[in-house]
Amino acid sequence: MSLWWTLVDHPVFEPGELQHPWDVVIVGGGFSGLWTAHHLIEQNPALKIAILEKNQVGSGASGRNGGWASALYPVDDKELRKTFSPEVVHELHMHLRQTIDDVADFISKENIDCGFQKAGSLIIARNQGQFQRLGTHIEEGYVRLDVRETNARIRMRGALGSVYTPNCASLNPAALVVGLANSLQCRGVSIFENTPAFIQPEGAVLVDTMQVRATFVVRAIEAYLENTRDQVPIYSLMIASEPLPSEVLQEIGVENRETFAEASHLVTYAQRTADGRLAIGGRGAPYTWRSRRNDASEHHRRDHDRLRKMAREWFPVLEKFEFNHSWGGAVGVTRDWAPYVRTGENYGEMGGYAGDGVAFSYLAGGVMADLILQKDSARTHLPFVQWRGPRWEPEPFRWIGINSAIRLSGMADKEEKRRNRPSRIMKILSKITGQ
Ligand SMILES: Cc1cc2nc3c(=O)[nH]c(=O)nc-3n(C[C@H](O)[C@H](O)[C@H](O)COP(=O)(O)OP(=O)(O)OC[C@H]3O[C@@H](n4cnc5c(N)ncnc54)[C@H](O)[C@@H]3O)c2cc1C
Repeated sequence: MSLWWTLVDHPVFEPGELQHPWDVVIVGGGFSGLWTAHHLIEQNPALKIAILEKNQVGSGASGRNGGWASALYPVDDKELRKTFSPEVVHELHMHLRQTIDDVADFISKENIDCGFQKAGSLIIARNQGQFQRLGTHIEEGYVRLDVRETNARIRMRGALGSVYTPNCASLNPAALVVGLANSLQCRGVSIFENTPAFIQPEGAVLVDTMQVRATFVVRAIEAYLENTRDQVPIYSLMIASEPLPSEVLQEIGVENRETFAEASHLVTYAQRTADGRLAIGGRGAPYTWRSRRNDASEHHRRDHDRLRKMAREWFPVLEKFEFNHSWGGAVGVTRDWAPYVRTGENYGEMGGYAGDGVAFSYLAGGVMADLILQKDSARTHLPFVQWRGPRWEPEPFRWIGINSAIRLSGMADKEEKRRNRPSRIMKILSKITGQ
């Protein structure tokens, strides 16, 4: 279980009968499904909406993530500009930034105690390779901080400098799921837990043998999508400490609770929680054959140990403290790393957030609601709307390709540490993958 779920109580839902004809049935009770319901009911309170969740709301990535509500987008600007005009790319960033404030407004209006704190985010270089890369590649919304400015915010061992964006908040995601789901229930949305649903190709929904009648069906299961070449699950693992003594927190820094990461190729992410813990995550766990979801991948001991070691390298003061929470989950990644919200006549699907879905799902849910209600809005023209990228390669090429990329990313990090210059391995790899 994630740390986050040990800190909040799961709500009780009383959804009534499933046999009604519904206006909208949403399969998946994570942020995507919940925010879609939120935007629909905001615009039309009379809609009859059912959310079908196979386990419990937030039992997927939404209740297990690093709690960065960021304005990050998985495709970088250079890549986006190959297809979209600079104006559209800029518009996307404006929406991504605004989304954090919209989520903040919702949290404050609903009085949700989820430790939300918008203090920005730091990406820290700890060797010359990372430092040079950070210097040459600055995305919209970021500023560079020198070593002194970096150390004023965070005392990470070996820091040479960082980039900072104010556009990120940290939160307990499970507490937000609970607050959002409770709010939806109060507004008449029916949430059915322990209700696995099967979406047939033409959009009809089956629960056991019962066909659920709906005018519109939404698939909001992100990384739970299986047996497809449209998207793959990539595992991301996390650890968290117990609340740390104040002198230790003082030594570490991030007093304002900026989220932070090392500028490594293998993704890392961390936050200082509202109750004074460190919650730290990273990629590197192997991809599973045929994109099968696999519980063992969420508890990959080697990767949890690697995270513990990394935490102590970052902050030697942690040597004598335990990280006794460990968990993991999968993120949905498309072949071109582009997220999507797509609809047909009476069916919609969303996902592919590649690990950036906490705040983004609010925007994606808003787009999905507008498309269902046939509303032409500024957000329905953003790059991810109706986007369909290339498919992943068939196996065994997919397995070989993804696991090689994960291994090479780890090797590239070692290369940069050793040679103090940007990795050559990564230069070649990014040419092959387009990332
Ligand atoms: C370890 C980890 C760390 C992450 N860190 C961050 C972060 O810091 N910031 C960030 O922005 N993003 C992060 N992410 C990604 C983010 O959590 C996801 O992008 C986001 O939560 C996706 O929400 P979702 O609702 O689309 O999917 P999910 O939350 O996975 O919800 C899908 C739901 O569908 C249900 N479901 C599946 N199949 C069926 C079915 N047949 N019938 C009914 N229900 C079904 C599942 O049980 C699940 O509850 C992280 C992800 C992980 C795993």
